Amino acid sequence: MTESIDRRCFLRDVVLGSAALSMPSVLSSCARAGHLPNFVVIFTDDQGYADVGCFGARGFETPNLDRMAAEGMRFTDFYATQAVCSASRAALLTGCYANRIGIRGALGPRSQVGISDGELTIAEVLKQRGYVCGIFGKWHLGHHRMFLPLQHGFDEYFGLPYSNDMWPRDYLCNPVSEGRKAEYPPLPLIDGNEKVGEIETLEDQNTLTTLYTQRAVAFIEKHRTDPFFLYVPHSMPHVPLGVSEKFRGTSEQGMYGDVMMEIDWSVGQILQALEDNGVDRNTLVVFTSDNGPWLNFGNHAGSALPLREGKGTTWDGGQREPCIMRWPRRIRAGSECDKLATTMDLLPTFAALAGAPLPGHRIDGVNILPLLEGDPGANPRDHFFFYYTHPAGFQLQAVRQGKWKLHFPHNYRTLGGRPGGQGGLSVPYEQASTGLELYDLEKDIGETTNVADRYPQVVAHLQALAEQAREDLGDMEREGTGVRPAGHTRHS
Ligand code: MG
Repeated sequence: MTESIDRRCFLRDVVLGSAALSMPSVLSSCARAGHLPNFVVIFTDDQGYADVGCFGARGFETPNLDRMAAEGMRFTDFYATQAVCSASRAALLTGCYANRIGIRGALGPRSQVGISDGELTIAEVLKQRGYVCGIFGKWHLGHHRMFLPLQHGFDEYFGLPYSNDMWPRDYLCNPVSEGRKAEYPPLPLIDGNEKVGEIETLEDQNTLTTLYTQRAVAFIEKHRTDPFFLYVPHSMPHVPLGVSEKFRGTSEQGMYGDVMMEIDWSVGQILQALEDNGVDRNTLVVFTSDNGPWLNFGNHAGSALPLREGKGTTWDGGQREPCIMRWPRRIRAGSECDKLATTMDLLPTFAALAGAPLPGHRIDGVNILPLLEGDPGANPRDHFFFYYTHPAGFQLQAVRQGKWKLHFPHNYRTLGGRPGGQGGLSVPYEQASTGLELYDLEKDIGETTNVADRYPQVVAHLQALAEQAREDLGDMEREGTGVRPAGHTRHS
């Protein structure tokens, strides 16, 4: 192991030249590389806050995730950074608000946009310390070669470059977008930089969770003597749902429950592989989701209860996610954290643990290691800005600090109390709007009672905080001073 790490350190020094040589703490710690922890991030797609047994799941069981929580820490106030796929993933991997790095919405097969070469992903940050990095699942940060994972710090990639509903079939697609989707090509299945197959049928979708899991387990076995970062962004439970025969019909809930039980199985396989390869105690495993449930798909969507609304909104149902972290060496078994934390915070936390330098440009994540270690006085993330994609630009829709969440006037989509679709079909959303509304999330987790009139000073304070965000990150037509452009194929 030492030999291979030393070789990578040497190669890195050659690549980085004198910049690396000027970082003595990094160089000297190469000798201690054998102590570097491994990192595993399991990131599901469109899973609701309540869709894990220990978060209140109904109609299906998640014994492996529940065990992971019993052996680790359950985060109750953990947020995905935006309530839509690409923007959420951009934030997770770069430690930045998606609007800081220009990644909007969900990038489709005709998009010419992707993650910029100027950004540093978790993989690139950890590579400075000799990590081997693999991703098995959905990338969704640009499907052109220049944007694919191997060009952004990963050594191995197998999976879909974008969402599993971006395909030719109109079946299971939102009626309003059927025409657009009908023009899409079959989903490309990519290994490394090359297309190795296509997902054309619903039967093909049934294979995805197991395929990703097999590759993840093989990666752990192959790299058990290396420090590694394993990223498993599942395509499921995003519609159209797919599940293997071994889990079809196993839950009371139906298809969605079956899919979640297979994801839970996948978590169990990964935990078992860590144990079998002797790296269990030295590996931090994180489980969470990219955004809340796609509620208009009804019984093919999950549940964010008791939170309000779901995917595509800045109500907590869109962004607060079930999150579990397990690391026997550093996290106390059966612990719980109710402090504010986000997916952006993983990058600086991993960097600190690996002794890797942070990117030279501004990031928005904070090191949450004190939370993992159960420090009762720690509160590393002071506040969080809820942005969402809007035709006029990224819109700042809310801000949270402590228990307070202030919504700014904005429109949002809702079912308005109507049931969602059945059997994989969706029903249309309607538009609603909110004014300036303040919620006490400690007393009112469902954001039901606006208390803005009772706490004018809190409102004023959060408005001032939001103004700082507008200056830095922008709001609608207003351009932020701290934003950087996304990558574009015309720059290649
Ligand atoms: Mg999603």
